[in-house]
Amino acid sequence: MPVAVPQEILDALTDVEMPRLPESPPPAAFEDAAGLRLPVHRAGCLVVGSGAAGLRAAVEMARRGVDVAVLSQSAWGGTSACSGSDKQTIHTANTADRGDDFRALAAAIGAGGAMDADTAYVEAVGSVRAMASLQYLGLPLPQDGLGGTLRYQTDHDEVGRATSCGPRTSRLMVKVLAEEALRLGVPVHNQTTVLRLILDGGRVCGAVAMRARDRGEGNPYGLCLYRAPVVVLAGGGPGELYRDSVYPGGCFGTLGLAAEAGLELVNLTESQFGIGTRREGFPWNLSGTYVQAMPHVYSVDAAGEEHHFLARYYRTTREMASNIFRKGYQWPFHATRMLDFGSSLVDLAIARENAAGRRVFMDFNRNPLAVDRPFSLDALDEDVRAYLGAAGAGQALPIDRLRHMNPLSIELYRRYKVDIAAEPLEFAVNNQHMNGGVAVDVWGRSSVPGIYAVGEAAGTHGVTRPGGAALNAGQVFGTRAAEHVVGAGATAAGAGAGDADAAVAAVLSVLRADSPLTVRAVRDEVQARMSDAAGILCDAATVRQALAEARALNAAIRDRGIAPGRAAEAGRAVQWAQMALASEAVLVALDHYISGGGGSRGARAILDPAGEGVPMAVSGPLEEVRFRAERAEDRARQIVLRRDGTGFAVRERANRAMDHAARPFFERDWPAWLTGAIYPR
Ligand SMILES: Cc1cc2nc3c(=O)[nH]c(=O)nc-3n(C[C@H](O)[C@H](O)[C@H](O)COP(=O)(O)OP(=O)(O)OC[C@H]3O[C@@H](n4cnc5c(N)ncnc54)[C@H](O)[C@@H]3O)c2cc1C
Repeated sequence: MPVAVPQEILDALTDVEMPRLPESPPPAAFEDAAGLRLPVHRAGCLVVGSGAAGLRAAVEMARRGVDVAVLSQSAWGGTSACSGSDKQTIHTANTADRGDDFRALAAAIGAGGAMDADTAYVEAVGSVRAMASLQYLGLPLPQDGLGGTLRYQTDHDEVGRATSCGPRTSRLMVKVLAEEALRLGVPVHNQTTVLRLILDGGRVCGAVAMRARDRGEGNPYGLCLYRAPVVVLAGGGPGELYRDSVYPGGCFGTLGLAAEAGLELVNLTESQFGIGTRREGFPWNLSGTYVQAMPHVYSVDAAGEEHHFLARYYRTTREMASNIFRKGYQWPFHATRMLDFGSSLVDLAIARENAAGRRVFMDFNRNPLAVDRPFSLDALDEDVRAYLGAAGAGQALPIDRLRHMNPLSIELYRRYKVDIAAEPLEFAVNNQHMNGGVAVDVWGRSSVPGIYAVGEAAGTHGVTRPGGAALNAGQVFGTRAAEHVVGAGATAAGAGAGDADAAVAAVLSVLRADSPLTVRAVRDEVQARMSDAAGILCDAATVRQALAEARALNAAIRDRGIAPGRAAEAGRAVQWAQMALASEAVLVALDHYISGGGGSRGARAILDPAGEGVPMAVSGPLEEVRFRAERAEDRARQIVLRRDGTGFAVRERANRAMDHAARPFFERDWPAWLTGAIYPR
């Protein structure tokens, strides 16, 4: 018998209150730098970012006695605290039911290629501990009566390794980790935006940050200095890079900051795109039951006329409705899924409607309109019928099927004043996740000593990732980075002095009141270019042209800076300069990949009139979307960038391999653990 879930239980899973933060400690001293008198804070380790990954690193370090401080632009902002979907997913080794083995999980994590085998294994092995420790901290992951975790199947997941606390899994993760951080006395410096890393002889020794509260005479922008021998970058993904984006507002990430510090960046060609509501409203992924309920999808033109546009792509009602359903667990766009009337034809059709100036909606009060014959729950593909049957979702209307399968999903939009039970929901194909980022080893170490990167800031994913692998990776690498910091004694030497003058001067060089470039102009230019030239459909000439324009913009910023409208916009101006640099880096990587013959993979189709793949629609082949196939050899390597002068040096490297025949052996390997020899210095 289905059990009715009382409203207060649903409320608690949707409205997740975050803990109150105590005041952060006062500065330890004041120092002069670049003509300004700046407050100085000291710590053993700075964690930049208070998302799920950063807080995990901070908690694990504090538990091991490290004097760690968290610096956050916005303590309960960012992707973990503010994003989700119908069932926001964490992906871990399966315990009860079907069982699992770490090699199989590692193979699934790295299945899309361009992923290091050791990293995939680390994420697989570490997943059990990540999940169990979150449960220990109070994360309410659902269990059956025998203690097995309830699971389901998600994107790039053939087994069913996904679990969820509901739409706000990652916010709940932030909450339990933040509570633990506060219990451990970790200072959280909120409203503190890190703008520049300070190096000393090639090692990190601190950072320049901006805090509104530090503004005053002699320090008009509120700059301050942090000194520490270790920095963990946990600033999340570069969500502001695209105009069409399902990231919450204000997600800048630390890609540009990392590039400026000379860190190697990897796999920047790889991002996820899929359907969701845009950041201008309530940014939310429309995966899982939102589409498994099979709402009617339509567009509206400038004259207000409705178009049943999917009927131009799919041949039958059954085919169309079944593919809308499959977007539930084939959520990210993938070029090959446009073929054979597959589920990514839905994304393509939506993107083309938007490009033609039409707005796209899903209506939960209407079943999909007919293509050949009226919609019927009895006339769906077998996998779809079986799922809906098992879920007991035989209700007549999409809204009732959705209410039955996942009432939280309706509740969630209501919280943001959108009643999907009453009105259609506008949505689009959006950028959602950066798979690449700072290149790290199996301990989260970047190419610059003392700097680690965890969570979405790190480039630990390959071309694809199973849904929920992002949250898992952040937890595993947050823990691993902390273990390495302690095991290798990374904080022992203390922080060098570094050239704080130069670092502060570099920040100030962006802020030029007389610049013709405004924050808004830079934002609009970067976002439009990235969405128009580097979205799900790319081609060599457009990417090359976009790269030339991105380079020109960065030259102009170097030359003229950006004019902040007011002091409060100064941090944003520097972050937009970094975003412009990050966009150049992504375009350099894409241009390198495409001009070297790289094919369609991950969430990008590489259009080419000589390509092998051509999606079909009702009217015949869509020649303008003909695309190159993926090349097998590209799966074995990764594209690595490093800032070089005013540009980027690009190289390729082979994926790190792993000898699965080399089994651990207790008596032989125990001494390395006991002596700390497992932590490379
Ligand atoms: C709509 C949506 C749905 C998703 N669903 C899933 C899912 O189901 N499963 C999954 O695994 N992943 C999912 N993801 C991805 C996943 O949520 C993120 O990858 C993950 O939450 C990132 O965590 P993080 O800790 O690395 O970064 P974030 O949570 O983004 O935290 C970054 C932190 O850094 C701070 N910060 C940034 N820059 C600076 C700076 N310069 N100085 C100081 N602080 C800074 C921010 O304020 C924030 O506190 C989803 C993403 C989106 C957008």
